[in-house]
Amino acid sequence: MTNHRLEELRTQIDGLDMQLLDLLNRRAVIVEEIGKEKEKQGTIKYDPVRERELLDRVAANNQGPFSTETLQHLFKQIFKISLQLQESDNSEMLLVSRKRHPQDTIVDIRGQKIGDGNKYFVAGPCSVESEEQVRATAREIKRHGLTLLRGGAFKPRTSPYDFQGLGEEGLKILRKVADEFGLSVISEIMAPEDVEMSLKYVDVIQVGARNMQNFNLLKAVGRVKKPVLLKRGLAATIEEFKYAAEYILSQGNDQVILCERGIRTYERATRNTLDITAVPILKQETHLPVAVDVTHSTGRRDIMIPAAKAAIAIGADMVMAEVHPDPAVALSDSQQQMDFPQFDTFMDALKPVVFS
Ligand code: PEP
Ligand code: MN
Repeated sequence: MTNHRLEELRTQIDGLDMQLLDLLNRRAVIVEEIGKEKEKQGTIKYDPVRERELLDRVAANNQGPFSTETLQHLFKQIFKISLQLQESDNSEMLLVSRKRHPQDTIVDIRGQKIGDGNKYFVAGPCSVESEEQVRATAREIKRHGLTLLRGGAFKPRTSPYDFQGLGEEGLKILRKVADEFGLSVISEIMAPEDVEMSLKYVDVIQVGARNMQNFNLLKAVGRVKKPVLLKRGLAATIEEFKYAAEYILSQGNDQVILCERGIRTYERATRNTLDITAVPILKQETHLPVAVDVTHSTGRRDIMIPAAKAAIAIGADMVMAEVHPDPAVALSDSQQQMDFPQFDTFMDALKPVVFS
């Protein structure tokens, strides 16, 4: 083939490409029109019957040299991008999305305004074990000028033979002791049917990592007027985490704190892998306050201080940590809870960072 002939053919191709480009965009303009019509009529945009008809038409009219399969594949891509054009970006429309709601949401826990730019600490035992245990811990928390007391009464344990928590009795202890010291109570609720009962005891309902996709529970906590601390699932992507929060907001409750608590990876040096960059991503993409649980993410008392400093430095609004009067005999998570002297060291290291 002479160079001249090659040039000529390429010029033809260039011309056809520009026609294709023009045709695709003219098609897209009509697709958008159809999208608007469907919007008005309230009809679903994806129409598999029509797609099948178009694919059959491609098969019937194809004269080659491309195979029908190849062309159908190409047309399917065109259908896909056309549908995307009709559907306004879903993530921009989510109630949790900052694009939808640019201002920070402030979660009010008895006057403590999480998300107002200040840093907050939640501390307390993994499980509520006794009134004395909770009281001793509450005293420490109060001594450090903190106001948020955590403790599990309903415990999601891997083994059914492990301590399952004191249930409502545990919530009663938390409320009683918290009232003695003027503290607020954060405690996990695992079942939708317990949400109503918990309202008189807790100031924040915790939805644990294992229940991040318990959709009935999410809906149930979305229907009440009580702040929710939603923990990221063990293997949840940030997108799944946002959708879980969306379940709560979609029911009318926007008082949600997102809590990064580490995700499962192949790394065994820590109990989970603290996904520290989830914090600024969640802060950018949502308007909700973000907490970091330094205890369950690391499972290591010896790196609690740098983990908490990192959480604060990267923009977390809240840090959660477990503290117990005598971790060695704790009924759950005995390896990872701080004792009181360790908690003193922890708070002494963080106060200058947070309250300077
Ligand atoms: C907890 O905070 O008590 C707890 C069980 O944490 P997670 O759900 O993050 O494992
Ligand atoms: Mn725990």
